Amino acid sequence: MYLSKYNIIFDNNSAEYPEHKVLVNFLNRKIHLIPHQLADIIKTNNLNEIGPFNEFLIENSYLYHSTADEQQAERDANEFYHEKLKEEGHQFFISPTYSCNLNCSYCYQDKVAMPRESEYMTYDMVDRITRIIQDKVTIEKAHTGPPVVTLFGGEPLMATKKGKGIVRYILNKCRMVGLPIGVVTNGTQLDQFIDDFKGLNVVTFQITLDGPKHIHDQRRFSRQGEGTYDKTIAAIELCVERGMPVMLKTVIDEQNIDHLPELAEFLDDKGWLDLEDEKFMIQLAEDISGFILHCMDLTENQGYSGKVSGSDKNVKILKRVSEMAKSNTSLMKMLRPESLGISQLFYRGELPPPKLSTCSASHISWTFAPDGTIFACPGGVAEHLVLGRYYPEFEINEERLDLWHSRAVDNNPECENCAYKYICGGSCASLAHGFDIIYCRPIHDIVQVGLDVYLPRIINRIRENGML
Ligand code: SF4
Ligand code: SF4
Repeated sequence: MYLSKYNIIFDNNSAEYPEHKVLVNFLNRKIHLIPHQLADIIKTNNLNEIGPFNEFLIENSYLYHSTADEQQAERDANEFYHEKLKEEGHQFFISPTYSCNLNCSYCYQDKVAMPRESEYMTYDMVDRITRIIQDKVTIEKAHTGPPVVTLFGGEPLMATKKGKGIVRYILNKCRMVGLPIGVVTNGTQLDQFIDDFKGLNVVTFQITLDGPKHIHDQRRFSRQGEGTYDKTIAAIELCVERGMPVMLKTVIDEQNIDHLPELAEFLDDKGWLDLEDEKFMIQLAEDISGFILHCMDLTENQGYSGKVSGSDKNVKILKRVSEMAKSNTSLMKMLRPESLGISQLFYRGELPPPKLSTCSASHISWTFAPDGTIFACPGGVAEHLVLGRYYPEFEINEERLDLWHSRAVDNNPECENCAYKYICGGSCASLAHGFDIIYCRPIHDIVQVGLDVYLPRIINRIRENGML
């Protein structure tokens, strides 16, 4: 007999069933409450004591007759993943410029971006991008889901003559060919563009708000040092009024964490936390700028490559947010299961399908930069992450493309024996390809925080799965 190497034991810190732990297997998508005795047996791999639990464990694929059975389950998961991938839509990011009207305290773009010759892409370039997108969507048909174009940057919505002209041109092209559109923007000049989005299928405006005014303004300010809070709030208000979906992003760190309850109460008073999920989404994000620079330094100056563990600073921050949320209903509304890695478990009562890559960049996303370059990932604009060019001529480095497409957690030796691989997906491909760094996020701790917050609300559903 063989106990799955993907069995993971989490604590049950809810008041119900205190004599049980939580057993999870992200390969087989199973979650159960189990007695401490069985948790100990699994942790110590003590097959001699397994007798009374045998049937339950085999039935739920926590225990196999041989390792070959688990290897078959992994092959099935791989096949299922690639079938599902075909149903996804392409994600195209268009960065009309890498310039930005802000100078946020934690921005690292200047340090990682390649120097750019042209400030804005030209109309001719947009024509070329649209043709490539149409070819990929209608001729290549490698992915059948609806494609999405996202305006990215720098800041895509800057109300200069050039900025307005090129954005309107891109939006008109999207309108003509019926492409849904998303925007990642600081929102400060959104009012000057909002009418241009009429008649378009807007998927989301992602706008960052980092706290109440006195905090946000210290972190997100213009090149002249002027705080952007009022303009950011006005942009969100405008989107809500027009029924345009908002993805509110809050980058959390030591500087703003204690002000989150104040921010959440403000959002709640506005009524935004009660809007339907499709109209008002929230992403609590970790500040990764320091980490990315650390990885670059490791590779470039210290010659290191290999695994790097995510800092537990981020876990501490998540724990603090979840603690504060227990006594603040607005913050509890703001804290979404997505931020804690258990959204599918919360919303649908089931674990997500095994994940073989961390993000869409490995397979379905292309980023068009203002100087004619194509990148695989919108965040990775370093020279070694170039996939090819769309202008002046279309050319793709097939070898590089294959490298991205073939990256999957089940062929990554660094991840071979990791129990978390089917929830992690094998880390950021951009860091792996660019710096040879495998970034291991502290997944156990993040999911544990998620279970601590949400288990009391979903425990009955899990119990319905059967428990011992
Ligand atoms: S699967 Fe994720 S957590 Fe596991 S070793 Fe790979 S990168 Fe690290
Ligand atoms: S490759 Fe890395 S940085 Fe790029 S989208 Fe994926 S996870 Fe994010």
